[in-house]
Amino acid sequence: MKYLSTRGGEKNLTFKDILFSGLASDGGLYVPDEWPQIDYNALKKIDSYAELALEIIYPFIGEDIKKIELKELIDNAYAKFSDNKIVTFKNLKQKEHIVELFNGPTLAFKDFAMQLIVPIFDHYLSQEDKKLNLIVATSGDTGSAAINAVHQSSKINVFCLFPKGRISSFQKKQMTTVYGENIFPIELDGTFDDCQNIVKSILIDREFSEEFSIAAVNSINWSRVMFQIVYYFYTLIDNKISENEIINFSVPTGNFGDIYAGYVGIKMGLPINKLVIATNENDILDRFINSGNYSIESVTKTTSPSMDIAIASNFERLLFDLCDKSTLITSEKMNELKKNRSFSVTNEQSDLVKKIFSSKRINQKEVNDLIKETYNEFNYIIDPHTAIGLGASRLLNKKDDNNFILGTAHPIKFSDTVEKSIGHSMELSNDFAKMFSNEEKFYSFKNSAEEVRKIIKDNYSK
Ligand SMILES: *Cc1c(COP(=O)(O)O)cnc(C)c1O
Repeated sequence: MKYLSTRGGEKNLTFKDILFSGLASDGGLYVPDEWPQIDYNALKKIDSYAELALEIIYPFIGEDIKKIELKELIDNAYAKFSDNKIVTFKNLKQKEHIVELFNGPTLAFKDFAMQLIVPIFDHYLSQEDKKLNLIVATSGDTGSAAINAVHQSSKINVFCLFPKGRISSFQKKQMTTVYGENIFPIELDGTFDDCQNIVKSILIDREFSEEFSIAAVNSINWSRVMFQIVYYFYTLIDNKISENEIINFSVPTGNFGDIYAGYVGIKMGLPINKLVIATNENDILDRFINSGNYSIESVTKTTSPSMDIAIASNFERLLFDLCDKSTLITSEKMNELKKNRSFSVTNEQSDLVKKIFSSKRINQKEVNDLIKETYNEFNYIIDPHTAIGLGASRLLNKKDDNNFILGTAHPIKFSDTVEKSIGHSMELSNDFAKMFSNEEKFYSFKNSAEEVRKIIKDNYSK
């Protein structure tokens, strides 16, 4: 498998190349040059999540890692999940299922990728005897997942940028109470998009990023997306869904990484009817689906902070496909976005998108009602992000279809919001109660790349 940049500046790269650089030097995102085709029927006999992950991920990595080594890395990573099924399901109405993606150590779907990326980095680093400095922009969950995964590594430092006052108190505790010598939580006086822009500017500066051995693990890094393809396959296989049934997935969406993984699943042969883009008030994607115009607006702070994002970075990967994989046209569109803060696609492109995707925006009042109703009706607590997925699914999908809603986080991570809706407090397990009594240690910076560069320079390892 070879990779290229959506903007044409780089091509013929290996998995290892793109894992380490994360973002192409021309500002584009890496994509595989073809979609591996998977015989979905042959996969149906696999019932273990780890085994399925191996079959789906291996074609994307190719000879870079031996299959037997990859198997061990995957087995170890998913052994850290609290349920040995890894992904569990909760049926609400008859054909309405929550796909519980929060059984990992930090209670959000980000663990699926992060618990594996870090050991894969370690695997490569052990062959080369060098160290790595990871930089992460987070709206809360990616950062906690990265810090948890990196904590045990002797080869990796992590510099984690989170937006001040825009993450939940649980997420903040998860990032600021781990205290490793290799852990640098950094609060930035800005939004998630500011954090992500700093990360992008550092990655594009190849002189700096190579001198300080920097890599990034936001969902702009292809490998993140790749690991998330697996649970779309697993969902259909584990629920024994036959091919003549109509299947929809509703995905609470911010940076367009998780739902794009479902799109890749379709490209690989997975029979999904519709992918529902479920957004909060930060609705750039919902507006795009309805108008064919992709235009940046400022960020609104909501009770689903992991989706408080102005620009959906991974959308560039879909755009590339919409432009028939023309790196030239993709670059033109992205330049237009930079200059005018918007671009439009043609009616044909818009129709292509709507064949696969539908979208709905759910507001905070609706979120509160959905959490409350779900609790009263099914005695089941959902988090605000999952509520957005559920709301969108109910408004768009037929109830006779098989509707899966990605449960992206455990409700305890957003207990402030959830408790108001269910009317009582939630219980913390012992480990997390202990975390809450620990002192928060973190850096606090202005919204500028300079201080971030300085802390890396002062603390990096080679
Ligand atoms: C990251 C996150 C999302 C959004 O996922 P994207 O890949 O950015 O679209 C949704 N819900 C939760 C809980 C998250 O942590």
